[in-house]
Amino acid sequence: MMREDHCTRCGACCAAFRVDFHRSELESAAAGGVPDALTVPLTATLVRMRGTDAAPPRCIALEGEIGAAVRCTLYAARPSPCRDFAPYAALGIGDDACNRARARHGLAAL
Ligand code: SF4
Ligand code: SF4
Repeated sequence: MMREDHCTRCGACCAAFRVDFHRSELESAAAGGVPDALTVPLTATLVRMRGTDAAPPRCIALEGEIGAAVRCTLYAARPSPCRDFAPYAALGIGDDACNRARARHGLAAL
């Protein structure tokens, strides 16, 4: 999630889905990882980005206005689900999950 161009004018996926990942991606486990304080524990091995299971969901690391201008405040250290999400969306080529997120925020499909 959150790459240049289309994504920096969107941000819908950062406010649509739970973002879960392995504890090995935390800063406490590896330098340059996700700050622990931005997550909540989920299981013995998994954590979740804080805010992504709120109602409505919105990742604590997301800044800005969805559909206008957004920024991931930990972009360089974002977790793997964010890195892997809709890899061509920034180029204007969405996929099912990307377009589901966009639809939730009233944005047209890519
Ligand atoms: S929903 Fe799609 S276009 Fe919007 S930020 Fe996520 S990947 Fe980019
Ligand atoms: S960590 Fe960044 S890219 Fe991932 S959901 Fe949160 S704001 Fe979006």
